[in-house]
Amino acid sequence: MPKFDLRTIIFMSMLLTFMLSMLLAITRSHHKDLRGPGYWAVGNLVIGLGMVLVLIQLDLTRPIFLPGMALIGAGLSLYINGIQAFIGRVPNHRITIAVFVLLAVIDAYFMLIQHEIRATVVLSAIIFAGVYLYCARLTFSRDEGLVGSLYWIASSLYLLMAVLMLFRAAYAAQVVGDKFDTFATWPVNAYTFMLGAVSQFFISSLFVLMLSYKLTQNLESIATIDGLTNVLNRRGLEDASIKMQDMCKRINLSMAVLLIDIDHFKKVNDKYGHLVGDDALRHLAKVVAGVLRSSDAFGRYGGEEFCAFLPNTTESDAIGLAERIRAAVEASALRLGSVTIKTTISIGVADSVRAGYDFKGLVAAADSALYGAKNGGRNQVVSYTHVTRDSRFLST
Ligand code: GH3
Ligand code: MG
Ligand code: MG
Repeated sequence: MPKFDLRTIIFMSMLLTFMLSMLLAITRSHHKDLRGPGYWAVGNLVIGLGMVLVLIQLDLTRPIFLPGMALIGAGLSLYINGIQAFIGRVPNHRITIAVFVLLAVIDAYFMLIQHEIRATVVLSAIIFAGVYLYCARLTFSRDEGLVGSLYWIASSLYLLMAVLMLFRAAYAAQVVGDKFDTFATWPVNAYTFMLGAVSQFFISSLFVLMLSYKLTQNLESIATIDGLTNVLNRRGLEDASIKMQDMCKRINLSMAVLLIDIDHFKKVNDKYGHLVGDDALRHLAKVVAGVLRSSDAFGRYGGEEFCAFLPNTTESDAIGLAERIRAAVEASALRLGSVTIKTTISIGVADSVRAGYDFKGLVAAADSALYGAKNGGRNQVVSYTHVTRDSRFLST
């Protein structure tokens, strides 16, 4: 095993940690809405300061109390708070305070009063192992895809650090007492610091990667979700329909589309105002989404028109579903205080067997069916097949 100089290792780790702190603080300042990086920035700063104290302590000839290890422990616990915030939990600051106080008391009592270095080393290593184990548990299999893999790596690294700390505690516990006179020169100290700092750096980089992934996802969802009704917007619908179309074509399944338009919606706006009209749109989106399956893609096509793409569905199946949606909307009036708003909808139905898989072709077919439903008297479901066979639907 190569021999490392402990002071150099700590000094390098300290520089690395301060650098990380700066990097995370910059990330935090640019994305104030993202929770986590602020804790990690402060955590690294505290760890770095702890390392400064440890370095000073190593050079002292007379032992005095400097809570370097306690600060490093508190910094690591701030990482726990950061992860808690990042995954949407409430950060538990008591953990950080408890770790700091425990480490500081152990350090002060056994080093200065009892002069028992062994107890300090063993107990501190056990506390550090506990902190690492908690981090490993928090990051264990939190997600799927890329973020899931990153969490998995972070969790494994934390677990490795916990095992190393337990090994350090067991090693220190069985060493003969007088060997502790040369404790500061033990190679295990340099290894622990080095591995601790490197894994910290690696894990922080993983979190920065996760942050940028999360940001991209947020942007994507802003671009594809309708701000008023929280269902897909037109772009989201088009994306979802292209994915569905690829899947259905590959395994030779039909897909269907429903185009939904609120009847006489202008009257709702004229009578109650646009804000109430907006509430009615939100209400309608909820009612329709409640009838659809999770595999269907539902969104707001524009104005007061909604659209649903249904995989593995024929036109006749889709007519049945559309009828249930129509009835559900008719039955679910929106109550706002003393006002009750009743709306009905007309639905045009088409499928890929008659209109092809293409987004525009499907929507155009459903649109002509919808036109037929409006001409037929509204509050009804009309299919593309029906409208093209029966010329009554085509003219007013
Ligand atoms: P019908 O479809 O039965 O023929 O009659 P309609 O009154 O619904 O007719 P049309 O489709 O022409 O009118 C749509 C109305 O929807 C006009 C517009 O004021 C209203 N609208 C469109 N987008 C919004 C919106 O975001 N909020 C509100 N409150 N109203 C909207
Ligand atoms: Mg309309
Ligand atoms: Mg309308």
